[in-house]
Amino acid sequence: MDQPYEVTARKYRPMTFSEVVGQEHITRTLQNALKTGQIAHAYLFAGPRGTGKTTTARLLAKALNCRSSDTMVAEPCGECESCQTITRGTSVDVMEIDGASNRGIDQIRELRETVRYASFEGRYKVYVIDEVHMLTTEAFNALLKTLEEPPGHVVFVFATTQPSKVLPTILSRVQRYDFRRISVGAISETLKMIIEKEGITAEEEALHLIAGKAEGALRDAESLLDQVRSYAGDNITLEAAREVLGVVDSERFFELTRLTAEADAAAVMGLAAAIIEDGQDPREFMLGYAEHLRYLIAASVGGVAALETLLEKEQKQYMESCELFGLEDYLRRLELVGNAAQSLRDSPQPWITLEATFLRLASMDRTVDLTALLDRIEGTLSGNPVSTVSSQPRKSDPKPQGDSSTTEGATATVSSADADLPPTDIYESEMGEGRSGTGGGYRGKGEGNSNTPEQAEAVSRHWNDIIEEVRRRKVTLGAFLAEAELKGIEENRLVLAFTGENHNFHVNMVNRHIDLIRESTREIVGHAYGVRCIKVEDRSGSGIDDVRGKHDLNQKLLDRMCQQDPNLKKIVDLFGARLEDDPGGRPGM
Ligand SMILES: [Zn+2]
Repeated sequence: MDQPYEVTARKYRPMTFSEVVGQEHITRTLQNALKTGQIAHAYLFAGPRGTGKTTTARLLAKALNCRSSDTMVAEPCGECESCQTITRGTSVDVMEIDGASNRGIDQIRELRETVRYASFEGRYKVYVIDEVHMLTTEAFNALLKTLEEPPGHVVFVFATTQPSKVLPTILSRVQRYDFRRISVGAISETLKMIIEKEGITAEEEALHLIAGKAEGALRDAESLLDQVRSYAGDNITLEAAREVLGVVDSERFFELTRLTAEADAAAVMGLAAAIIEDGQDPREFMLGYAEHLRYLIAASVGGVAALETLLEKEQKQYMESCELFGLEDYLRRLELVGNAAQSLRDSPQPWITLEATFLRLASMDRTVDLTALLDRIEGTLSGNPVSTVSSQPRKSDPKPQGDSSTTEGATATVSSADADLPPTDIYESEMGEGRSGTGGGYRGKGEGNSNTPEQAEAVSRHWNDIIEEVRRRKVTLGAFLAEAELKGIEENRLVLAFTGENHNFHVNMVNRHIDLIRESTREIVGHAYGVRCIKVEDRSGSGIDDVRGKHDLNQKLLDRMCQQDPNLKKIVDLFGARLEDDPGGRPGM
């Protein structure tokens, strides 16, 4: 009554080149060769498993020997005696040799013997050697001899998943074709076609899930479909597919991300308990969550290509929730989750690892952006805390942000390359030129401008007042200026020399707030100056003790804040807002 069960992959193995999925670049080339009769003696089919290498090799054998024509055909008929025996695997003209199980020289010697005899039924003898890279060196060499003087009626097709392991001497004698992983979309479409032909139904999401799980191998997708079908019957639901494939409902991943963003430790423990109760494999969950984070990262950096394998609905969901964390935070989380998956591999108590990882995700510090940090210091020093900055922002305020005047250029590019810079390296501020300076006379090095010696003298005399004025407007900037040495005036700009390993940090700070310096100088000496920063190896001369006194005061404040807030200290250390009274310094930071 019932037909004998046949696995989908075999039942729906392509019978023509046009049915081969996702390898058009290869099938078209082969068909052109068949049309013109330009057949090579040896082909190498390289590519991942399950992508159609053996299928294509058989189709080539059929096309070469098809009886529907007197000569080779571009598309085998599938009906003639030759085509049918090849389909059944009983053709004496097509030999399939598994390189993995026939590694020995004897098999290849035998092969060399049979190669001499002409094709029995067909026009060509076709030798398909699967996993050819597994052959021993001796066997390779024997094979090579055959390739050096191939009889006209023989075609070799070598298939391999690892072309890099195939000897160069073989590679140089073959025509190589690289099989690609098949896209999720193409696999989905194929599964849909199979479902229809089988007269069963399946939810589109279920097929999509199976296709995604197959990692580019159609054959794997077909086997997975068989598995799900034998469990779910003739109506395949997403739920059933998830259960069979051990795929976690992505809602759980979204939930975990949301709960950790809210730093809700109790809720993440509840989630861990639910996962264990449902009998989900903690390691599978972690691997799935790592992928989830990857999608969130892709969404947050606009890497849409990475999301293409997802259904539109899912893509939208990722685009919506990617803003819960910043990129740095996602990367740190991904690392933690990856390590957890690794340690879950042989953990005797996987549920504890799962729970601990969830808790760590929920308690992980956020990467605070530097501008926000500075404003926070600013706010605290002036007794006027900036309320929008928090290391654990609420849901409504997903990313740490400074106030509107400082959000631009958010992440300071404080570099560790500092030490490598030559001492004369010059940083130009963007806004140094133009707007002011109308007098004549004084000229800086070279180019004409309108700064007078009187003005230069005034700036020098009032330098401490200028610093004070800047400090009044922005405490941290004032502190940084106090560290600089005023070298002179040049083209409407104050030439400031910075020293020490934090040079870049200071320069960035100064450049970001150049307007503030312009306003301050206008206030004090009646003239708006930009700034040109230069770096010097060492500093000596006037005003240092004076300046240092003030700086120490700030530093003590900063120290105290760091003691109260380890988060802040970490960042201060990281970005090298160095403690002046620490004589050791931190070279290379
Ligand atoms: Zn045929």
